[in-house]
Amino acid sequence: MVTKGKKLYEGKAKILYETDNPGLLIQYFKDEATAFNAQKRGVIREKGVMNNAISARLFGLLEENHIKTHFVEKLSDREMLVKRLDIIPVEVVVRNIVAGSLAKRMGLEEGVPLKETVVEFYYKSDELGDPMINNYHIRAFGLATDEELKEMVENALRVNEILKRFFDERDILLVDFKLEFGRHHGEILLGDEITPDGCRLWDKGTLEKLDKDRFRRDLGKIEEAYEKVLKKVMSS
Ligand code: UDP
Repeated sequence: MVTKGKKLYEGKAKILYETDNPGLLIQYFKDEATAFNAQKRGVIREKGVMNNAISARLFGLLEENHIKTHFVEKLSDREMLVKRLDIIPVEVVVRNIVAGSLAKRMGLEEGVPLKETVVEFYYKSDELGDPMINNYHIRAFGLATDEELKEMVENALRVNEILKRFFDERDILLVDFKLEFGRHHGEILLGDEITPDGCRLWDKGTLEKLDKDRFRRDLGKIEEAYEKVLKKVMSS
């Protein structure tokens, strides 16, 4: 058992608390949702509970598949115990199908399957609105070493294969997603969360959006979409 300590950091969707173990933190999932660099704000009812459960299941799945993550265990409805990370300020986006900012950038319709998996990097900075960067920027600004970057990309691609298959078996298309990594005792671990907040998930049959795009684009039935994902993710 760990004891919850003081608040370390409060983000848009989660709060991190210290514990009596300096290497462990409690990650608390909130119902608040933001989009467009926090210009749009709202609440998705019970999102924190659903995202905690979805994340715990998916981190567990990744651990079973030998991906090193910060996840230790689910503690309660909205809390999970995680290893403390020194977060690398590079968001890694993996894409299987054209959507969102890639559709805009390339002047394409959403839904076009990519011939090859695309990996993109964004500089994690709320002030700057997470600008897109490349491996040269990462090196020039010392955001991560070449070795760390290589490991992040390899892991991101492995995570993609594991999650793509898992969701496919549940009739969901994994369109794209964002990952964050951090350092912990000399290792690179997958951090943050894996939830419909940071993944695009489409119903395989109807192509209905089951993710935060319902909030971003005011499509309605947001809670129902997250619930559908939760149900599918928890089914064996
Ligand atoms: N994403 C995220 N946080 C961000 C930006 C993107 O979780 O700050 C996720 C997003 O949910 C999607 C993927 O990364 O699954 C690719 O997002 P995209 O670049 O298309 O940006 P968006 O259209 O969300 O602005």
